[in-house]
Amino acid sequence: MRILVVEDNPALAAQLGHALVDAGYVVDYAEDGADAHYMGDVETYDAVVLDLGLPVMDGLTVLRKWRDASHDMPVLILTARDNWHEKVSGMDAGADDYLTKPFHMEELLARLRALIRRSGRHTSAQWTSGHIVLDTRQARVTVDGEALSLTSHEYRVLAVLMQRAGEIVSRSELVGHIYAQDYERDSNTIDVFIGRLRKKLPQGSIETVRGLGYRMNAKVPGSGHAGESTAVRESGEVLGPSGVKR
Ligand code: CA
Repeated sequence: MRILVVEDNPALAAQLGHALVDAGYVVDYAEDGADAHYMGDVETYDAVVLDLGLPVMDGLTVLRKWRDASHDMPVLILTARDNWHEKVSGMDAGADDYLTKPFHMEELLARLRALIRRSGRHTSAQWTSGHIVLDTRQARVTVDGEALSLTSHEYRVLAVLMQRAGEIVSRSELVGHIYAQDYERDSNTIDVFIGRLRKKLPQGSIETVRGLGYRMNAKVPGSGHAGESTAVRESGEVLGPSGVKR
């Protein structure tokens, strides 16, 4: 999943970026309102963290322009302490949620997960495809309850495919989801990550759709412990913050 962080304070932007990358997101950054507006206009993000006090163009204006152009990605605004007026203006301008600075990173991550979930694209913090379970809160993947060891790129590729299980996802879409904007984007690397994932997942989990891309196939027999771990399908809310129970 891809997040745009709009923050002109470099220290806070770096802090946000590290926390989000650790949580398995791909992060793009904008330091002023004009850049932010452009990026939100041309790129697709699963959510945006938007500081309101920005150079060149303020955050409220950026948000209004996005909403006027029907960009409906979830937006979490960061507001100054004790400025209730700013919160109200932000919500009126189309923000989905707000956090007051200073905030706890854990709270920001929890609010983002909730926003992304509510945006309707993902109804649960945990996605299931066949015997594979991906927990977005922990950036953790299990097959029949056994944790998989994945690199961050492998995780991101799998997350995009599982997020859209049953749909064809093109290589260029995958590239857009796993590399930040300034990165050299090479779609050949996607095939490498897919190859590695296939060695770690039950056979047939990822289908190649010739000329179009890849597709997660949910109808794959498990690796032997059938019927045990997949009972938690679509029930992410049931699990506590301690995460997946075997
Ligand atoms: Ca600021």
